Amino acid sequence: MKNRTQNQNPGGLRNRRQIWRWSLPVLLLLFLSTLLWLPWQAQRMEANERQEQLIADTLWVEQTIRFQLSRDEESLDLVGSEITAGNLAGKKWQDRLTALLRNNRELDRIVWLDAAGNQIASTDHVPVRLADYSTQSQLAAQRARDTKTPQYSHPAPPPGLSGPMQMDYHVPLYIGDRYTGSLIASYLTSSILDQMVPWWFAQDNEIALTDSDDNTIDKRAAGGPGRSVYTHRRALDLPGAALTLRTNSVKNAPKLLPNLLVGSVIALSVGLLWSLGALWRDINRRLAAEGALRQQVSFRTAMENSLVTGLRARDLEGRVTYVNPAFCQMVGTQAEDLVGRLPPMPYWAPEAMAEYQQRFSEMLAGKVPQQGFETVFLRASGKRFPVLVFESPLLDDHGNQTGWMGSILDISDRKQIEDLNRQQQEKLQASARLASMGEIASTLAHELNQPLAAISSYTTGALNMINNSIEQHGSVDPEMLRLALEKASSQAQRAGHVIRSVHAFVKQREPAREPVTIAALIDNVIPLVELQARQFFVSIQTRIAPALPPVLADCVLLEQVLLNLTRNAIEAMQEVAPERRILRIVAALEPAAPATSVMISVIDRGHGIPDEVAARLFSPFFSTKAEGMGMGLNICRTAVEFHGGTLTHAGNPQGGTIFRFSLPAMPRNVPDAMTADAKSLFQ
Ligand code: ADP
Repeated sequence: MKNRTQNQNPGGLRNRRQIWRWSLPVLLLLFLSTLLWLPWQAQRMEANERQEQLIADTLWVEQTIRFQLSRDEESLDLVGSEITAGNLAGKKWQDRLTALLRNNRELDRIVWLDAAGNQIASTDHVPVRLADYSTQSQLAAQRARDTKTPQYSHPAPPPGLSGPMQMDYHVPLYIGDRYTGSLIASYLTSSILDQMVPWWFAQDNEIALTDSDDNTIDKRAAGGPGRSVYTHRRALDLPGAALTLRTNSVKNAPKLLPNLLVGSVIALSVGLLWSLGALWRDINRRLAAEGALRQQVSFRTAMENSLVTGLRARDLEGRVTYVNPAFCQMVGTQAEDLVGRLPPMPYWAPEAMAEYQQRFSEMLAGKVPQQGFETVFLRASGKRFPVLVFESPLLDDHGNQTGWMGSILDISDRKQIEDLNRQQQEKLQASARLASMGEIASTLAHELNQPLAAISSYTTGALNMINNSIEQHGSVDPEMLRLALEKASSQAQRAGHVIRSVHAFVKQREPAREPVTIAALIDNVIPLVELQARQFFVSIQTRIAPALPPVLADCVLLEQVLLNLTRNAIEAMQEVAPERRILRIVAALEPAAPATSVMISVIDRGHGIPDEVAARLFSPFFSTKAEGMGMGLNICRTAVEFHGGTLTHAGNPQGGTIFRFSLPAMPRNVPDAMTADAKSLFQ
């Protein structure tokens, strides 16, 4: 069935859900971290790129400076050799070097000194001597002279001044081994940076010349100070001067959020995180709901499986939509064979098809008996069994009817118990009757004695008469004889009547209802009542209203009721004064009954019923009498209720007790089953 299919592999399903529950967030987190890693990686790549670019540019600048200085060196060396060769002096020297200075703006001044260090010629108007140069420069001059190779001086300010920083290129002039002087070309370090470094590079970087101890000699920061994020150093090794070119980019580290891409990545990530949270909450809610639902389903299934009541749901067309295991067990058919079927159903007994069909149409028309109905179902084995069926409408969430739900109770056991009860009740009634008989047996014997004695004396008298008549007259007077025999016959009939009524009363039998007139009922029972009444000197008065309708009843049961009530009444009057010992039996129409009923009252003037006795009056085996069985009133009530009537009691205003029982009168439309005899009663 559906539930079973759903629960086939609940563990596997749960595991898959759990895996899904955990893997989804993990995947999303991975995706998220990739999203966050991307801009970080992009930033790092950009930083690397900038650094590499700076290195390349620094290298390029260093090469440019070195190239320019080499070109200057070559020109100066050439000038030096021309001087020593004596080809360059006076105005010629001046023109040549002025042109050199004009073309190479990084050069500040070129001076020609003699061997004593005095100026021979200069591009500058201010005369100068070697002693006017900085110590560093003089040291370089000495080195150049010693090594006979041109030397750079370490940059230094002119003596006595703090700036500008000046670097001199000393070219020693030798003619043969004779030192004849030197050519000194002076560079201002600021000019080197200004003239040799291209403007676009200077715009993006702070460029500095430093010494070997990293002290800044000069720097150019056209684009502002360097941020020390991207820096590079490059050695600028010149003969005699060890300089370093240091570049420091003015650019900051690339920002993490520089552009739209990163912004959108962040926004996306935030959105993703939010949706992840929402998804997580939703999954949790769903799982919780599913868990609760599963519990509900298993609870419902367990409940349905443990039910002994059969459940059967049908849609509005009467098609079976659901049956529970109890129902399947009851009818001995599989659920698959029932679900989806329209009537006639396999559990309908063929002989009652018409009844089922009619009830089914009534149900479809919405006519459902509130109190349920009894019917018979057919088990697959062919066995019939009684069931009690309750139908109620099935409503959906909006209160619309979607079908019918029936609960079916197998009442075989109940029926058996009822049968057993009935049988026991009948046996009990029979025993009670026998007990009553035991009590009246002695009276009966005494009573039978009378007619028997009378018969005996009549027949003896008749015999004597025959003998005497024959002796005296030779013939018998037939009239006298007939009279005696008639009396004997009537006495014999009386005795027979008593014996028959006792026999009918005691005989065990099935209750059988037949139309009974109240007068006949009372007449039947009076001989037996009289037997007891006479014993206790009680007089009986009967009053039967004229034209009472008959009742449909079991005569013997009602006689038993009357006999019990009258016996109790007689016994209750044992102790009262003889003139009060009157038993009245009154039959009349019940005044206030909705349907016509006949009321029979047994009225005594005995000791009455105290409250504590009244409370237990109808309890089985309750008796205040030494010999009492305590079953009389209980049986009476059962018998009266069996006939659809009620048995009540009340105090007699004149003293004593009144027991009343009502019996529904027979309806005017006589059922077909009624005997012709009975019908004649109503005509
Ligand atoms: P039993 O007659 O064997 O005692 P019943 O069931 O017939 O059993 O009566 C139960 C009790 O009810 C009696 O013992 C008696 O005390 C009381 N009872 C019944 N009928 C009368 C009556 N007419 N007047 C007074 N008491 C009565």
